[in-house]
Amino acid sequence: MSAARTSPPARLDVKRIREDFPILERTVHGRPLVYLDNAATSQKPRAVIEAEARYYAEENANIHRGVHWLSEKATASYEAAREKVRAFLNAASVHEIVFVRGATEAVNLVASSFGKNHVRSGDEILVTGLEHHSNLVPWQMLCAETGARLVAAPIDDSGDVPLEEIVSRISERTKLVAVAHVSNALGTVLPVREIVDTAHARGVPVLIDGAQAVPHRAVDVRALGCDFYVFSGHKVYGPTGVGILYGREALLDAMPPWQGGGDMIASVTLEKSTWNVLPYKFEAGTPNIAGGIGLGAALDYVSAIGLDRIEAHEAALLEIGTGLLRSVAGVRLVGTAPEKAGVLSFLLDGVHAHDVGTILDQEGIAIRTGHHCAQPVMDRFGIPATARASLGVYNTAEELEALAQGIRRVAEVFA
Ligand code: PMP
Repeated sequence: MSAARTSPPARLDVKRIREDFPILERTVHGRPLVYLDNAATSQKPRAVIEAEARYYAEENANIHRGVHWLSEKATASYEAAREKVRAFLNAASVHEIVFVRGATEAVNLVASSFGKNHVRSGDEILVTGLEHHSNLVPWQMLCAETGARLVAAPIDDSGDVPLEEIVSRISERTKLVAVAHVSNALGTVLPVREIVDTAHARGVPVLIDGAQAVPHRAVDVRALGCDFYVFSGHKVYGPTGVGILYGREALLDAMPPWQGGGDMIASVTLEKSTWNVLPYKFEAGTPNIAGGIGLGAALDYVSAIGLDRIEAHEAALLEIGTGLLRSVAGVRLVGTAPEKAGVLSFLLDGVHAHDVGTILDQEGIAIRTGHHCAQPVMDRFGIPATARASLGVYNTAEELEALAQGIRRVAEVFA
């Protein structure tokens, strides 16, 4: 990751990058769009939109089964996208790259398939208190089914989960550690490398929910040493409806299939079926072919800019945004961990978060309000909701100034 960098990365030409995103040219309620909801989903560059359109216009066919020219073309494009994901994550083999619908489906796949083989009554799954519901509910369901217990390492007042809180909860009963790389509600970056090292020292595999990490920093699954890593295409400037489960080959190989159907089989008789090789064993049915190709284009796009430069740009914006929001009377930031990515969750004194969001929307400023699918985080801080501005590669300091000005006006309305 960026720690290995020897010199600071060159600055981004944000003006030029913004031109790649057609939606940023539009107005909302008659005002220029200020899009600060990137943790929910990011906008799409023309390269991604065109890759999907090109597939439908020029190559559309079902994959893997066809002998005709178009089917071979479509298969080659889809498999080329898989190779792009492999390279992006630095996985050892394309056998380890499973196309799924998104991070949520990837966690469900592991909970169901890995869970079936490895988790019994009395076992434990270890998560943290800052997980997105997608990295919580599937484990709760597995625990309900098996009689295992979900253990959560608590968040401190800054929104951090100290490493010792995680390490001290790994026991001989722990069958899996499942943690976010970056919290969507707080921006906290967890020390995933250290978590993996400690868990592995005790023989416990680790799943990392990288939905909020992959768009913002370079991820190398082999350097991390993790067993599973999941993310969604739509948060990394790619299409919705496609995402990735990375799993170490030996683990995926030993896991039973999840869904049954076409493509995941080697042979079928009326009595019995045998399974296809990896990664197809986990890819039942016709996949989101255009989405996979679009995801490949998105990874090309961010790689061409450079994840190190994106990370540095967003870190600079986070610092500016933090200062600006702190300067607004009545604003309290929720989530001030020392290691943070580009998420600004905040409360405004005496004003419900939804009102903050609704009034900002009238000015063309798109932020998120609510529990951000992380209700336990809200419970931990004793609040129902926050307003959240989340950053992406195309955001600017001027947009953060507009946000701060907008919040001041909201405060005036409610004064
Ligand atoms: N994990 C985290 C940390 C997230 O932020 C999200 C999406 N907000 C998810 C998982 C789920 O992603 P998706 O809805 O794309 O499956």
